[in-house]
Amino acid sequence: MLSTMQDVPLTVSRILAHGSTLHGETEVITWTGAEPQRRTFAEVGRRAARLAHALRDELGVAAEERVGTLAWNNAEHLEAYLAIPSMGAVLHTLNLRLPADQLTWIINHAEDRVVLVNGTLVPLLAPLLPRLTTLEHLVVIGPGDLSTLADARVRVHDYEELIAGRPETFDWPSIDEREAAALCYTSGTTGDPKGVLYSHRSLYLHSLQVNNAEAFALSPGDIAFPVVPMFHVNAWGLPHAAFMAGASLLMPDRFLQPGPLAEMIETVRPTIGAAVPTIWQGLLAELDATKHDVACLRTVIIGGSACPPVLMRGFEERHGIRVVHAWGMTETSPLGSVAHPPAGVSDDEAWTYRATQGRFPASVEARLIGPDGEELPWDGESAGELEVRGPWIAGAYYGGAQGEPLRPEDKFSPDGWLRTGDVGTITPNGYLTLTDRAKDVIKSGGEWISSVELENHLMAHPDVAEAAVVAVPDDKWGERPLATVVLRDGVAVGYDELKAFLGERIARWQLPERWAVIPAVPKTSVGKFDKKVLRRQYAEGELD
Ligand code: ADP
Repeated sequence: MLSTMQDVPLTVSRILAHGSTLHGETEVITWTGAEPQRRTFAEVGRRAARLAHALRDELGVAAEERVGTLAWNNAEHLEAYLAIPSMGAVLHTLNLRLPADQLTWIINHAEDRVVLVNGTLVPLLAPLLPRLTTLEHLVVIGPGDLSTLADARVRVHDYEELIAGRPETFDWPSIDEREAAALCYTSGTTGDPKGVLYSHRSLYLHSLQVNNAEAFALSPGDIAFPVVPMFHVNAWGLPHAAFMAGASLLMPDRFLQPGPLAEMIETVRPTIGAAVPTIWQGLLAELDATKHDVACLRTVIIGGSACPPVLMRGFEERHGIRVVHAWGMTETSPLGSVAHPPAGVSDDEAWTYRATQGRFPASVEARLIGPDGEELPWDGESAGELEVRGPWIAGAYYGGAQGEPLRPEDKFSPDGWLRTGDVGTITPNGYLTLTDRAKDVIKSGGEWISSVELENHLMAHPDVAEAAVVAVPDDKWGERPLATVVLRDGVAVGYDELKAFLGERIARWQLPERWAVIPAVPKTSVGKFDKKVLRRQYAEGELD
């Protein structure tokens, strides 16, 4: 028997309408390097309507069409976030740190005809233009050097001129909540990049979860500070969630160095920030070195790669900022698990829980799969590949405009669960601990060594700034760990001391024999340790 409840679609236009009216006075504040730009949610709503008119009436954007954005975190990007899906088109965020070939491939695969680009990023896009087969219009946001576009066959528009004088309301179409709203490609560490096509429903439900107390609990008193880029899994859902909750947004634009980040925290006083560990590592060093008033931050969300406990403790013990560790992927929208401790545990116990990847919300089901395909128990010890399913978890990849959705076997189980490629354990009360990505696990003599565990211990050494451990081939054991470390400025600690330090914390057979001091750990396009490059540089023969 069907229920008697109303069947109202969960859409981005609802988030837009709600935020721009009930929370019309709430602001999005964009850092400019000078006076911050302030815009109310009501203005964002009006400008989103003007943008939708311009895209439809002037540039002919149709329903289901993918519209690209190559932009920093700023108010205009937020307008695109809300306008493009609400008008029935698909917001396609482009990762500005990808190599040129990948970016070209992605724009062509999505068949972007219109791309909104920050003026400062035009020089990055211009060299790709001859190979962008579907691109017709570039909409340039803010000042920039357009000389490189002089010979381009695309039409170039100024964002402000394009939206000027257009109606400030839009009759947003009614959309099936299962329709595509946004598209984000994973960075394609193996094979071609893969597009995850979020639905209106998945974005809406994900926003509700971000605002849930068991995640980040945004509310009108908050100023959310997504340092994580809007092209990296929708800035982890914070723009949508903040617009829904009436929380203000502080957008760092292109000012992502520790100094400017500290300055914007002091000036605008955000309450909750989010970024990958490397960004926060830089900020922590800045805060340790120079006095800044950052007491406004109630929470710093760290995810995207394992958060070293020493980083969490550094923020909390020296600066009074609580770090919350979270796990997710492009395929999981990204909220997969959040590490809040259970109620009623001691401080010490709370730390053990908080260092894990956390617990899954009700909408994310999880299971661990062993090497022979068997489901493993949640006993905190059995390690296997994590598989998940839920209403904001991808069930396939975008196959192109005419193509069928892609369901590679290594990414989806026969019964439709997402194979995350992450290996870990789950405790009986549901806390996930990831020991590695499947491809980074070190298999030594039939046993697994967790690179993450070794890295966390090494980074707890006072002289070590960063540490990354990778597998190297070994005649006797199959693979052995190679520890690469970046030392803090001005120290010269020897391998013996590091080895002894590690030896007190792990089993002897896990101790790396091979070591290298390196100037910096190579990073991926979203700021994570790039172990593929490390392996190539150091493990495959270039070791000093
Ligand atoms: P990419 O594959 O380009 O890194 P994603 O951002 O989708 O793109 O990466 C998702 C992966 O990042 C996860 O599968 C996992 O390996 C890693 N990851 C994310 N959050 C954490 C975390 N808190 N701890 C450990 N690994 C994490």
